[in-house]
Amino acid sequence: MAKDGEIDFFTTRFEDVINFARKNSLFPLPFGTSCCGIELMSTLASGYDMARFGAEVVRFSPRQSDLLIVAGIVNLKMAPVLRTIYDQMADPKWVISMGACASSGGIFNVYSVTQGIDTVVPVDVYVPGCPPAPEGLLNALLRLEDRIAKGETHSQKRERAGKEIRAGGEK
Ligand code: SF4
Repeated sequence: MAKDGEIDFFTTRFEDVINFARKNSLFPLPFGTSCCGIELMSTLASGYDMARFGAEVVRFSPRQSDLLIVAGIVNLKMAPVLRTIYDQMADPKWVISMGACASSGGIFNVYSVTQGIDTVVPVDVYVPGCPPAPEGLLNALLRLEDRIAKGETHSQKRERAGKEIRAGGEK
C-alpha cells in the first residue's frame, strides 16, 4: 500500500476468492425429522437470525441447496431418502449433523435407527447435545465456514482429488 493509502496491488489465490464467496453464501436445506428440528427453526428465526452468517436462504429443493442440516432421528427406512437428497444437491456441498440422534443414534440404540448419519452421507461438522441449543448450531456454522475457507470439507477434497486424477490421466 502506498503512503497516501492507495492500493498499489493486491494478490490472492483464485481458489481463496471462490471459497470466500462460498462460505458467505450458503443455501441450507433443513432435514428436520424430530425435536432437533424445532431448535433448527429457532436458529433460523429472528431471535438468533442465522442470516447474519450468510445462510438465510433456506431452500426445500436439493437442487438449490449446498448445505444439508440433518436435525433429528434418521430411521433406516429414511436413510435412502437422505442419501438421494444429498446426491441431488449442487456440488460442492456440505453437511451438518445436528444433535445426538443424527450424530450417533442418541438414546435410540435400536435396529431401526441409523447409528450416525455418517454411515449414509459424509458429515463435515457435528453439533453435540440433546437438543443442541441454537448457539451450538451457529458455532457449527462458523466452524463449517472456517473449513470451507481452508478447503478442508469432504466435498472440496473430493473435488481436488477428481482434478488430480483427471490431470494424471491427461499426462
Ligand atoms: S438429539 Fe434429543 S432433541 Fe435431538 S432429535 Fe434426538 S432426542 Fe430429540
